[in-house]
Amino acid sequence: MGTLASRELELIRSQFAFSLRDRIVTNNAASTQPPLAVLELLRDLSETYENVHRGQSDASIRTTEMFEASFDTIAAWINAPSRRTLSMHRSTTEAINAVMYSLLADFRDGDNVVTTLMEHNSDYVPWHAMCREILPRFGRHVEVRLARFDHESGELDLAHLAELVDARTKLVCCTGGSNFLGTKPPLDQVRAIADAGGYVQPDGRVGALLLVDAAQRFASSRVDVQEMEADFVAFSFHKLLAPFGVGVLYAREDLRETLPPFLYGGDMIAEGQVFPDRVEYNDLPWKFSAGTPNILGVIASAQTLRLIVDLVGADPTRAWFRTDDPLEPGAVDAAMAIVAGHAASLTRQAMEGLSTIAGLRIHGASVGEDRTPLVAFTVEGRSPFAIAHALNAQGVESRAGCHCATLAHHDLGLEPAASCRVSFTVYNTPEEVDRVVAAVRRAVDAPHDFSSAGTPSTSAD
Ligand code: PMP
Repeated sequence: MGTLASRELELIRSQFAFSLRDRIVTNNAASTQPPLAVLELLRDLSETYENVHRGQSDASIRTTEMFEASFDTIAAWINAPSRRTLSMHRSTTEAINAVMYSLLADFRDGDNVVTTLMEHNSDYVPWHAMCREILPRFGRHVEVRLARFDHESGELDLAHLAELVDARTKLVCCTGGSNFLGTKPPLDQVRAIADAGGYVQPDGRVGALLLVDAAQRFASSRVDVQEMEADFVAFSFHKLLAPFGVGVLYAREDLRETLPPFLYGGDMIAEGQVFPDRVEYNDLPWKFSAGTPNILGVIASAQTLRLIVDLVGADPTRAWFRTDDPLEPGAVDAAMAIVAGHAASLTRQAMEGLSTIAGLRIHGASVGEDRTPLVAFTVEGRSPFAIAHALNAQGVESRAGCHCATLAHHDLGLEPAASCRVSFTVYNTPEEVDRVVAAVRRAVDAPHDFSSAGTPSTSAD
């Protein structure tokens, strides 16, 4: 696996609006850019613009068909057994909060949740709030525990994780890929540790539930929820070329059957089954779909997945985009292998280049080849914000801050809790990476040349 050839890349890049603005987009771990074809699709959807499950017009029926077919496409993409395991949310953040609210009543006094110091805030703050703010109001005390990572290698400390998980650990939450260190924890070992704790769940199953925050992992590799053996998997489409506004939660089907929904209201109710003394919930997956969903966003997201297969030409014999045909797992594997290989190769190149800059430290430098395609770094004596502004002045879009990996920044003793991050996806080129490295070098060597770039004086070196 390596970089895409320059002719292929040129074709891919011509499908995006950013190719017109002569900027280097390396803030892809925050959000990727949507292909023009997907934006055009959104406009075309206005021809059948209607709500779903709420009308008998041709437009409503067609929109409902497309919306429901989108669940099948998304299920196929992550190898979920069926659409019944899926719910659509605004974001990964909302998907994880949905798990928290669905499980809330099941936590018993004395239970604990184990997560890690490398989590994004969206996989820590909900558990913090549940344990320290919500459950205490009901007289229940549940502890949140944090597994360490190795400061040198950036790897999750599995021995520490195993120490923290015990017979009262109801839930283990782990990132599928860090948005700061690049680490992809070995989820099979995390699963084994969660099981070994021995918690007895209400349905009699033994072992902690496992939630994987796959926001970054989904963006850069094939996520196969069955292979992952996770009970919950959350991710967002805006990390993989789709427009903003849709996150997904996969949950094991038997959990979907028994757990309460996170939101209550219309459409999650079986037709006509609301009475003053009882209500009956709708069949899956609609039990978890209260209120009007982000219909255009869900359809566009599913179609973006199909377009990726076409874009990288993994299956030149057919066009998947703008169809509802069943998406074959082989096509998804092939497409994501190309996306992953390309992004990994650019990341390697960036790491090699950046590591030659004096005083620059890459965080998670040695997590190995199988990492999320991003490089976060700090430079001795230089503000990450000043570097990011200096990069912007040179046409390079990066990000400085803690990337919501706040615990990890504190744990590493970074003061301020910030780093500069560049991140890559299928449309970036090796030439861009060279330009990014050169721009970082200039920003570090001559920070004052960029003082007109709006660098706050307090965060300049
Ligand atoms: N987890 C990780 C690892 C992420 O990188 C992000 C996005 N930065 C999130 C969760 C949150 O995603 P969203 O903003 O779509 O809720």
